[in-house]
Amino acid sequence: MTEPLFDWISFDREHLWHPYAAVESPVPVFPVVGARGVRLELADGRTLIDGMASWWSAIHGYNVPELNRAAAEQLERMSHVMFGGLTHPPASELGRLLVELTPEPLDRVFFCDSGSVAVEVAIKMALQYWQAVGRPERRRLLTIRQGYHGDTFGAMALCDPDTGMHRIWRGMLPQHLFAPAPRCRFHDPWDEADIAEFTRLLKEHQDEVAAVILEPVVQGAGGMWFYSPEYLRRVRELCDEHGVLLIADEIATGFGRTGRLFACEHAGIAPDILCLGKALTGGYLTLAATLTTARVARGICSGEPGVFLHGPTFMANPLACAVAAASVRLLLKGPWRDRVSRIEAGLRRGLAPCAALPHVRDVRVLGAIGVVELEAPVDMVRVQPRFVEEGVWVRPFGRLVYAMPPFVIASEDLDLLSAAICRVVAEIGG
Ligand SMILES: *Cc1c(COP(=O)(O)O)cnc(C)c1O
Repeated sequence: MTEPLFDWISFDREHLWHPYAAVESPVPVFPVVGARGVRLELADGRTLIDGMASWWSAIHGYNVPELNRAAAEQLERMSHVMFGGLTHPPASELGRLLVELTPEPLDRVFFCDSGSVAVEVAIKMALQYWQAVGRPERRRLLTIRQGYHGDTFGAMALCDPDTGMHRIWRGMLPQHLFAPAPRCRFHDPWDEADIAEFTRLLKEHQDEVAAVILEPVVQGAGGMWFYSPEYLRRVRELCDEHGVLLIADEIATGFGRTGRLFACEHAGIAPDILCLGKALTGGYLTLAATLTTARVARGICSGEPGVFLHGPTFMANPLACAVAAASVRLLLKGPWRDRVSRIEAGLRRGLAPCAALPHVRDVRVLGAIGVVELEAPVDMVRVQPRFVEEGVWVRPFGRLVYAMPPFVIASEDLDLLSAAICRVVAEIGG
C-alpha cells in the first residue's frame, strides 16, 4: 500500500502565508524543488535563472559545496546549543571575521536571528546607551525617507512612513524623525542642499535624538535608490558634531553587493552600530549580527542594570555561524570584486534598452544591483508568470523591477536575465 500523494502545492495555497501576500492571493506562488548554481528548479522540471539571490542573500548561488560541507560538519558536532553561559568555536570564528572585516572601531558582536531583530538590537543598544550614561531623554531616532529596516514594530517605525504604511499603525509606533531621502545620485556631483533638512532636524532635536539610522548608499526595499556617498560622509560628521550615534543598516548591502565589502566604505566612514544579515550565511540559514564599538558597549554596561537586555533563544546558532564563517571565507578567497564589477557592467549594458521606453522613469545600476523604475506599479498577477515563462526569477515590487543576482552568475546567464527583464518591461507598456 502506498500513501496517497500529498498535494503540497494545494495545501500551500489553502494554508500557508507568504511574505506580504493575501491569503488565497491571485498572484501565483511557484513550487521549487531544488536549486543549484544560479538556477531554481521548479516542480514541473523548468529551471529559472535567479535574479533575486533570494532577497540579496544567496551571493554564492545554491548548493555550494563549501557551504554544504561546513553545514554537514557542524551538524555532526552540534546543530544548536544555548549561548547563555556557553560558547562554541563557530561563534568565535565568525565573530573574529566580522570584527576584522568591518570598519574600525566596531569590535563587539551581538548575534541574532534575522535582520529585523538585528535592527531591534541596534535600537535597543542606542537607547540603553543613553540611559546608562545619564541622558535618558535621548530616545528618538532620526532617519531618512524611503528607508526599509524590517517588519517588527521597532524596525517598522523607521521604515518610510508611506511605503511602510504607518497610517495603519497610527498610535502604535514610536514617533521618529524623518528627513527627506537624499536626491543626489551615487555618481552626481554633491549638492549641499541635499543635506539641509537633515541638518536642521538634527540641530533642532539634538537633545532628544539617540541615534541616526540609515541604509548606507543603497536604500533597498523602500525604493531601491543609490545616493551620494558624500551624504553619508556628512551624516557621520553631523552625528559627531551633535554627539549622536550612527547606526548603519547594511543588512542588504553587506558582503560586497555594492562593489565594496560594506557600503560604508564608499564614504570611508564607520558607524557606531552596524547591522548585518541577509548574505551573512550565503543565504543558507537565518542569522544576523549587530556590531558596536567598545565605547558604546562599555557605556551600556556602565549603568543600570549593567547588562545589555537582549538574548534570543537561538542566539549565535552554531550551525548558522559555521555556515556564515564558511560563506565569508569563500567570498574573501574568490574574485568577488571582479564578479561584482562584471555584473555591474553587464546590467548597465543589458538594462539600458529599458531607459528608452515611455513607461520607464529610470534605469540605475550600482554594483550587482540593477533597477528599472516604472511610472506605475506592476500588475503582479500578469507579470510574475511572464518572468517565469521567460525562464528567470525576478520579483518586482510596486513600480520597481530589479535584479541582484548571485555573484557567481555567468555572463551568458546575466545576459539572458537582462534580456528577459527588457522583454517583460517592454510588454508592460504595451
Ligand atoms: C531585509 C532587510 C531588513 C530585515 O531583515 P529580515 O531578515 O527580513 O528581518 C532590514 N534592513 C534592511 C536594509 C533589509 O534589506
